[in-house]
Amino acid sequence: MYFGGYGLYILFSLPALLLGFWAQMKVKSAFNKYSKVRSITGMTGAEVARRMLDSNGLNNVRIEETGGTLTDHYDPSQKVLRLSPGVYRVNSIAAASVAAHESGHALQDAAEYGPLKIRSVLVPTVQIGSWLGPIIFMIGLFMSSTTGTTVAWVGLGLFAATAAFALVTLPVELDASARAKAWLSGSGIVYASEMEGVNKTLNAAAMTYVAAAVQSVSTILYYLFLLSGRSSRRS
Ligand SMILES: [Zn+2]
Repeated sequence: MYFGGYGLYILFSLPALLLGFWAQMKVKSAFNKYSKVRSITGMTGAEVARRMLDSNGLNNVRIEETGGTLTDHYDPSQKVLRLSPGVYRVNSIAAASVAAHESGHALQDAAEYGPLKIRSVLVPTVQIGSWLGPIIFMIGLFMSSTTGTTVAWVGLGLFAATAAFALVTLPVELDASARAKAWLSGSGIVYASEMEGVNKTLNAAAMTYVAAAVQSVSTILYYLFLLSGRSSRRS
């Protein structure tokens, strides 16, 4: 194999991979820790979300319970907030944080927040590009002609949509957390003394999105490195 084998790939991807593992551990430990801390107001995640949505005029957004752990999400096409049992049924600082964060996505949707719209537009391309892009890229690398270079660039372009998605996810997630923090403290649902737990839970979650963005950008850099090696061999 003329493109340096797996050693080179590990060199490019290892820092991002380690960051990803570390972020996953941080988010799990923060969630576990603050799942055991009851909030003073005693509301469940579902109650917090309902209050936040209603106070922002989003009475039309439904709240449903969904299976799993940390599977909470907002579905803009159905206008439904789906909360996991550990959030939906539980009174805790972690549950309030996650419920308010997901409600933050519903607020973004209602406000037609730009990055959220861009992200939705990218979804179909990402679904195809994330797996087809690398395959097309590798096929291009194995082809010897200049056509191969073109094919590789097409694969890289397809995969680039995945990186763009990961990058535009950052402002979307940070903004949802900012809306959650502002509303939780402003509404009095969470007391000032409890905000540290909210911040730690939501900041840990944000790190997982940073890690995902670093991962896809480092893959793009690796591909660019392989392509530059190819053209320098030709000259
Ligand atoms: Zn989110």
